[in-house]
Amino acid sequence: MLIDSYDRVVDYLRISVTERCNFRCQYCMPEKPFSWVPKENLLTFEELFEFVKIAIDEGVKKIRITGGEPLLREDLDKFIKMIYDYEPTIDLAMTSNAYLLKGTAQKLIDAGLKRINVSIDTLKPEIALEIAQKDVLKNVLEGVDEALKVGLKVKVNMVPMKSINADEIIDVLEYCKARNMSIRFIEYMENSFAKKEIKGLKSNELLAILKEKYEFEDEGFDGASPSHYYKMKDGYRFGIIEPYEDDFCKKCNRIRLTAEGQLIPCLYFDEAMSIRESIKRGDIKGAALVLKEVVRTKPEKNRWGGEDAEVSKRAFYETGG
Ligand code: SAM
Ligand code: SF4
Repeated sequence: MLIDSYDRVVDYLRISVTERCNFRCQYCMPEKPFSWVPKENLLTFEELFEFVKIAIDEGVKKIRITGGEPLLREDLDKFIKMIYDYEPTIDLAMTSNAYLLKGTAQKLIDAGLKRINVSIDTLKPEIALEIAQKDVLKNVLEGVDEALKVGLKVKVNMVPMKSINADEIIDVLEYCKARNMSIRFIEYMENSFAKKEIKGLKSNELLAILKEKYEFEDEGFDGASPSHYYKMKDGYRFGIIEPYEDDFCKKCNRIRLTAEGQLIPCLYFDEAMSIRESIKRGDIKGAALVLKEVVRTKPEKNRWGGEDAEVSKRAFYETGG
């Protein structure tokens, strides 16, 4: 079992299989980065899988494939199948912008994927164009329909932003509710890569909007999930991710691996250690030692909120959010 210095069990690995993306979301990657990691620097799926096996053997129970946009990476279904075949009980999920989901959802479920989180910040084509800087909404919604049709469990992530999509919070919630998909509102996390003008809604502002229409109860937290849950009268639950809150990191159970092999203890900070050389040499023990060291050095909490609040210099498209 992997336990950090604050007695948190670390059993969740998020793997960013590429930092590249077909969107340019204002809060994540408004401009194409100065340079991409060259393709030859990416770990192959076979190499990533070597690390996945170590992580599972050390106690990881949940793996999420993310990016950048994970569906841009060829043969992703084969990587999913490798993980599934090694440990079919693993909680295997993916986060995607859904643009390329139509036509691939069946392959993903056949490979062993169980769940997918899809980012839907708006239901208006012109706002989707403004946020992603590309006309994406039609493909995204068709992708979601197909994922549901083939039987993937779909959750939606929405980042509410003032003067952009704050007026659509209820519409997006209703869209999800009608399809039996849960929704998580993610507070915008300030980072140096995002467009400077963005102002995210904090959870109290979001709740005030929702209270005008719905009655709901505060259900608190559920296991190690970072979502604060609320239950509406008809039983529908929604979640809010509140990284600015003091106790957000108390139950953090996750570490992140980039496509180059950097193992990152916290989404907020720049610190990382590489498993790349160990994996390339076939040094399983060496990679396992790096894993344990990264878990040991997991910081107690991020610095988005509180007195020492700062803007993070870590790119979301690199860590996978
Ligand atoms: N491309 C995929 C997608 O958009 O779903 C996966 C990668 S994306 C980095 C993962 C999640 O991070 C998305 O739900 C996105 O909305 C969220 N995200 C990106 N930048 C963010 C920011 N600055 N604050 C809050 N959430 C952010
Ligand atoms: Fe791409 Fe996802 Fe970042 Fe948007 S949030 S730019 S879709 S990685």
